[in-house]
Amino acid sequence: MTEQAKLAALLFPNSGRSIADYEALYPPRPLPAGAPVTRLAPSPTGFIHLGNLYGAFADERLAHQNGGLFFLRIEDTDEKRETAGAAEALIGALDYFGLRFDEGVTAGGETGAYGPYRQRRRAELYRDVARELTARGLAYPCFCTEDELGEIRASQEAAGANFGYYGLWARHRNLAPGEIERRVGRGEPFTLRWRAPAAAAAVTVQDGIRGRLVLPGNEQDIVLLKSNGIPTYHFAHVVDDHFMRTTHVLRGEEWLSSLPVHVQIFAALGWEHPFYCHTPLLLKAEAGGKRKLSKRKDPELGLDFYRREGYHPRAVREYLLTLLNSDYEEWRLGHPTAPMEEFPFSLARMGSSGALFDLQKLNDVSKNVLAALPPGETADFLRHWAGDWQPEAAAVWTAEREYLAAIVAIGRREANPRKDLVYGTQIFSFLRFFFDPLFTIEDALPDNVGATEARGLLAQYSARYDHAADKESWFAALKRLAAENGYAEKPRDYKKQPELYKGHVGDVSAVIRLALSGRKNSPDLWEVQQVMGEDRVRRRLEAMIQYVGQL
Ligand code: GLU
Repeated sequence: MTEQAKLAALLFPNSGRSIADYEALYPPRPLPAGAPVTRLAPSPTGFIHLGNLYGAFADERLAHQNGGLFFLRIEDTDEKRETAGAAEALIGALDYFGLRFDEGVTAGGETGAYGPYRQRRRAELYRDVARELTARGLAYPCFCTEDELGEIRASQEAAGANFGYYGLWARHRNLAPGEIERRVGRGEPFTLRWRAPAAAAAVTVQDGIRGRLVLPGNEQDIVLLKSNGIPTYHFAHVVDDHFMRTTHVLRGEEWLSSLPVHVQIFAALGWEHPFYCHTPLLLKAEAGGKRKLSKRKDPELGLDFYRREGYHPRAVREYLLTLLNSDYEEWRLGHPTAPMEEFPFSLARMGSSGALFDLQKLNDVSKNVLAALPPGETADFLRHWAGDWQPEAAAVWTAEREYLAAIVAIGRREANPRKDLVYGTQIFSFLRFFFDPLFTIEDALPDNVGATEARGLLAQYSARYDHAADKESWFAALKRLAAENGYAEKPRDYKKQPELYKGHVGDVSAVIRLALSGRKNSPDLWEVQQVMGEDRVRRRLEAMIQYVGQL
């Protein structure tokens, strides 16, 4: 047995499985040549990042548009950062936004032949690969304590050398076998380090988004296994994406700097590395420039935000497509009703220089998505959302289901449908006046209409109100009422000769609008009345007459 093989046997119990056994256990996938295998590999920290969804959506499109497969792996190696139920919450959130995985972790357990798909359950596999790396002289144990690492750093600082554990600074790189045996025998904790080649040559990698990258070769003896036997991201990435047969790794650009390490480990093991695609950061415009979205400052960075605020999942997905491929919007204009899945997503058209996230833009997309949805579906979506997040809305929307559907349908039959429904909380406050338990007078009478005047107008309007009148005759009657009371029938006339009138028809309708909606602005008044129904209209007019009487 070589010294290295002895060392491997000393450090790691033998499970009886070799890398070759794993190659057989996880054979290349039976997919057509060129079919991408992609994965989402989130860490269950409890905070679900918009970037997760952004990347996941690109992964999903890439796989499903090209006959491939998309799976979910949970990277739960960092127990300290993990929160209870986080993986389940993550799965729920991804599902909510319509992401469908073909295999991996699911709410009901794991599916697929390349698991386990939670890294903590893969400990034996990492250990077996680590043993073989050690036996091949590619890894070694390091017993350095935090204090010793601090000392190395201080000496490097004094010497003006690069930081890290490498070359001559790597104290335990060449420990004598006897010394290692003694330390292991004493139960000293150790990490397993990668034995980086001295003077590594620069690496060239073809990135799916950034094109050809030339990066400095890695000389750092990075940690592969922590002292508790848990792998670092680097090691787990190489082992998992190899044995899960991932073909395309889409991940954030923060991983670019460790790419040389990954390429190096893949090469040393004789494995082909996946096709890397480093996605740009999500940026936010701010006075004077752009900055990275921040967890602390920007609530919209967390996926919870969109559920809590009640964005339709389709709106979020569609918006993310506009961020992923800049020509999406153009495609959408040419294909206004096509399902977004028909858009030919392409990696090559993903920008590499930071995706500018803009809530206003999301709102615009959301308006269009809701305007295109059948009103019944919008109403169902809203009720669902309210059930989870907005009990006040849930109570009234559930009590009057049909009414909600009719409200949502206002102005939607026209060729140019109204686009004022954006997201749950906005819609709730926008529509609350329709529901008696939530109705209040929020705005004031027009400046030129006093309380007594308003009372008179309301009384006449109420007395003559004909719920069966169509829109035109209703409006003609309103103009008559205005004229009889000294208001111009047309705003234009009033503007020309204001001294002749008290105001114009718009002031009269404002009083009625205030009675019915409590506001200065509302959707089309005639439609509002039709949807409210005659009883409700009459009750509100009556209540307003009482109300202005007390002003
Ligand atoms: N767990 C890593 C992260 O959440 C995954 C990165 C990757 O996709 O490889 O950042």
